[in-house]
Amino acid sequence: MSDKVDVVVIGAGLAGLAAAYHLADAGIETIVVERGDFPGSKNVTGGRLYLHPVRPFFPSDFWNDAPFERAVVKEKLTVLADRASASLEFSSDKFRDEPRHSFTVLRAKFDQWLADQASAKGALIISKNKVDDLIYDGGRVVGVKATDSELLCDCVVVADGALSFLAEKAKMRAARAPRDYAVGVKEIIELPARTIEDRFGVGAGEGAAQLFFGAITAGMLGGGFLYTNRESISLGMVVSIEALAHHEPHIETPELMETLKARAEIAPLIDGGNLVEYSAHVIPEGGIRALPQLVGDGILLAGDAAGLGLNMGITVRGMDFALASGALAARAIKDALSHPERNAVESKEGAQSQDSPLPAASLAAYTQSLRDCFVLKDLQTFAAMPNVLDNARMYTKYPEAIVNILEKMFWIGREPKDKLSATVLREAVKGFGNLDAVRDVVGMLRV
Ligand SMILES: Cc1cc2nc3c(=O)[nH]c(=O)nc-3n(C[C@H](O)[C@H](O)[C@H](O)COP(=O)(O)OP(=O)(O)OC[C@H]3O[C@@H](n4cnc5c(N)ncnc54)[C@H](O)[C@@H]3O)c2cc1C
Repeated sequence: MSDKVDVVVIGAGLAGLAAAYHLADAGIETIVVERGDFPGSKNVTGGRLYLHPVRPFFPSDFWNDAPFERAVVKEKLTVLADRASASLEFSSDKFRDEPRHSFTVLRAKFDQWLADQASAKGALIISKNKVDDLIYDGGRVVGVKATDSELLCDCVVVADGALSFLAEKAKMRAARAPRDYAVGVKEIIELPARTIEDRFGVGAGEGAAQLFFGAITAGMLGGGFLYTNRESISLGMVVSIEALAHHEPHIETPELMETLKARAEIAPLIDGGNLVEYSAHVIPEGGIRALPQLVGDGILLAGDAAGLGLNMGITVRGMDFALASGALAARAIKDALSHPERNAVESKEGAQSQDSPLPAASLAAYTQSLRDCFVLKDLQTFAAMPNVLDNARMYTKYPEAIVNILEKMFWIGREPKDKLSATVLREAVKGFGNLDAVRDVVGMLRV
């Protein structure tokens, strides 16, 4: 292969691999450069992948052989106060409808499978190579500088994940602000499949997803998650980096993780399990407000590198955004490469123009296509979410108020009981009858 290719993709995560799959499928010469030992080796997710949003971007039988862990059929949301908790469990036959709604995944396996699909289409994936910088001609990106070599190309897809130093180097986004990021820590705890199914009350091959919020984050924006895999549980926490930096007294995420694991609501679920993996990763949480410039001359950003993540409190999403944005990036590049005007310029200007990168204007369709589909529509709909969640009362006062109401309802003591309605009303006024709570409810109505 010559030292100039059509497209270089930086990062073999879901965004980069989705782009590579579609580019190679269109006959576009594509090289993916990945710094990890293999695709998925460095990647962290909770993780549950919502498949419905991304089905339109892939062939209908594409997911049939994917190495999913379990199809999620049960959702549980648990509010934790200091000494008590309240849970809402939800299951529905709709979650069992085919095609399935969502699956748990383990990235080391899943990303390798996706890389195999992209390779089968003709993409070349080079692992153990880090892209250190972009190559410019004037202000236009014309290639990348990697560990072993320099590669020239018509377009670079920057899909190097949440911290994307390369997007920053390309001045497509400002320096990172701590308030736009969270840190996630995760443990994989092995348990026999049967034990998992018994503990979570699911059938063979079926899975559960559980989110926790409240006392476990010590007043900081964040929460815990638990997903069941075939023969393991993914248990973790996500906490705002800004909140962690300002927390008094100073506290580290491993400490929070130990508190989570020791909770009476969680300890029995992982009892007897074997801890086989510990990982930590950054998550973009700035939402639409923190969206970077998505295209430039010869360059576009996809997935976490473009800040495409959404924490809705009851769901965490990023993988579906990454897959869809990668696919849409490929579509925009394909259209730009095959645009008759570009070919006309190339043939008129001869060999020199063969090195010309795709101008930003020819890639603008990418931004529009993200706006037209769920990716930017969902980010826009939940634009107020980061502000709503960034509120210490959500993790301290309100969980206490909720469990107080329930405790008074369920407790039978020596004294005769009040009417239930009087109990609920009195405790609700105590917990929520103030201006702050009214303001918070108004905020919540925006999402
Ligand atoms: C704890 C946690 C829980 C989460 N839970 C969920 C969930 O349940 N559901 C969900 O949908 N999303 C979840 N997310 C978000 C989701 O994991 C991300 O949105 C998704 O992984 C983004 O994919 P990506 O391809 O953009 O980036 P990544 O998966 O981060 O891939 C980036 C790739 O680029 C490579 N790379 C980086 N720099 C370079 C370089 N300079 N040169 C070469 N290669 C490079 C990396 O090694 C990596 O392979 C979670 C995230 C975390 C951290």
